[in-house]
Amino acid sequence: MVAWEEELTQWGDRIIAGGCLTRDEALTLTQRTQPEEVLFLCAVADRVRQARCGAVVDLCSITNIKSGACSENCSFCSQSAHHPSAPIYGLKPTAEIVAEAKAAEAAGAQRFCLVSQGRGLKYNSPKSAEFTQILDAIARIQAETQVQPCCALGEVTAEQAIALREAGVTRYNHNLESSAAFYPQVVSSHTWQDRVDTIRNLKAAGIQACSGGIIGMGESWEDRIDMALALRDLAVESIPINLLNPRPGTPLGDRPKLDPYEALQAIAIFRLLLPDRILRYAGGREAVMGELQALGLQAGINAMLIGNYLTTLGQPPEADHAMLARLGRQGGNAPVPTT
Ligand code: SF4
Repeated sequence: MVAWEEELTQWGDRIIAGGCLTRDEALTLTQRTQPEEVLFLCAVADRVRQARCGAVVDLCSITNIKSGACSENCSFCSQSAHHPSAPIYGLKPTAEIVAEAKAAEAAGAQRFCLVSQGRGLKYNSPKSAEFTQILDAIARIQAETQVQPCCALGEVTAEQAIALREAGVTRYNHNLESSAAFYPQVVSSHTWQDRVDTIRNLKAAGIQACSGGIIGMGESWEDRIDMALALRDLAVESIPINLLNPRPGTPLGDRPKLDPYEALQAIAIFRLLLPDRILRYAGGREAVMGELQALGLQAGINAMLIGNYLTTLGQPPEADHAMLARLGRQGGNAPVPTT
């Protein structure tokens, strides 16, 4: 074993024993790991995943309950009214949302997330008809399925977070998307701090945070590492890693897709920085990783979004289950970190 690999192995041992990777060490990983060493780094991260998280892969599905015509200008998103290309529709009927939850359950999802376009509930009146309908849909999902309802409804006030928790929402998605430094380059209609404030409101209400970001928007390794450290500081429980699948018509539509080995390196570094967190493969998995997507599950991933994404298609859930079986893994409830 060469000296660098020995050092990496020792870092892995330290993290398995309860330690964490520092910012400087993470930056060193990006500078010293040669392309032919990425799979060794993945193996170290996978050893940490096995020791700190176990073999279960937490499976969730999402539905876009309200699409397009969004006031915000997120450069990666085809739902923005500033560069629209996604379908536009209002809030889906409750019966349709519940039917989708049942289909997700049948496909093997443990969680089902109601996702809406828009800056957030915070800008609706406290008792808006939409919020009331969403709470009703959550109640019906709980009554008629075993899946746990999650939401991603943008910014929420402390009071709305409490109402969601009382309705049975245990986890809420609100991505940081990138570092504080890089965020203004992709969104200018709201701030990174707005997103942090919402995560704090959710956590204060007793709701688990699901928050991650997008890799491949032109951010630096420092930005990726700083996002991971911000998520660590916020004690976010579940971290979706999206790999930019450039959407035609958006400002990032012409960006080249990330190299799959760079994506693997990012996943592995996230696992070493966030050893006990639920690290979730999300949008762009199939488009960016292609035939290498199984390797992400051997680089630190312990959760996956299955089925379709918000505006793009995913591979059939049967293909995901077959991939997990080939790796000796299976869907279930991954352990939730408690600190
Ligand atoms: S990511 Fe969300 S807030 Fe941003 S434009 Fe898309 S739907 Fe709107």
